[in-house]
Amino acid sequence: MSRLLLAANWKMHLELQTAQELTSEIASMLNSEAVSAPVVLCAPAPLLQAVAHLAKEHEGLFVGAQNLHEEKQGAFTGEISGEMIASVGAQYVVVGHSERRQLFKESDELITRKITRALEAGLIPIFCVGETLAEREAGLTPEVIERQIRAGLFTPTAEAITKIVLAYEPVWAIGTGKTATPEQAQQVHLQIRTLIRDRFGDEIADNFTILYGGSVKGSNAAELFAQPDIDGGLVGGASLQSREFVTIAKALR
Ligand code: PEP
Repeated sequence: MSRLLLAANWKMHLELQTAQELTSEIASMLNSEAVSAPVVLCAPAPLLQAVAHLAKEHEGLFVGAQNLHEEKQGAFTGEISGEMIASVGAQYVVVGHSERRQLFKESDELITRKITRALEAGLIPIFCVGETLAEREAGLTPEVIERQIRAGLFTPTAEAITKIVLAYEPVWAIGTGKTATPEQAQQVHLQIRTLIRDRFGDEIADNFTILYGGSVKGSNAAELFAQPDIDGGLVGGASLQSREFVTIAKALR
């Protein structure tokens, strides 16, 4: 089974028409350029259904939300449940993105509950971890990553782990134009895979998908994806341009 995957994080960009246009452009380019690895478009919640409707015509193109609530349902005005996301045709959901950790004060504990909820709703969580610049400069990267991994990945069962995708996203590289070097990224990816190996064994570790995110572009994707433990990317800014995004997808080999 291939570990390769590319996910787009559109964040709070696009509207109905522009999202439909971008989806159609990406779908036809992926087809004409014979990209075989799965691609996920993580769209803003109100646009999910329309994007899912277009994506389902294209084999290998999937749709994800960018967040979900940790409860199944209830009096939570303005919130969105995993079941709602699944019911409009999405298969994935981003959980624990650094923008949610930082701007919306999401804790490791809350993120763990969201991962569990996503799995119960039949969604594949794209679980994000990563250190801030201050943490990296203080030499705390391995510690921070281990804490986040233990919280989010070691709570679900071993069977559930096989349904989670991980994204290592150094916070200092997100939306900043600064990319981790392939060596810096590989070092953390190997640490993550080793933590999974020690806890769940070789088979789960060897099949586990670990994406890199943080200013991935057409010009740096190939050298990042060439690293042995980098299985694809979670792409923000560059996913809003169809040509750039498909260039990144073509680097998945
Ligand atoms: C992201 O939003 O997850 C991300 C990695 O953004 P960017 O590619 O713009 O750094």
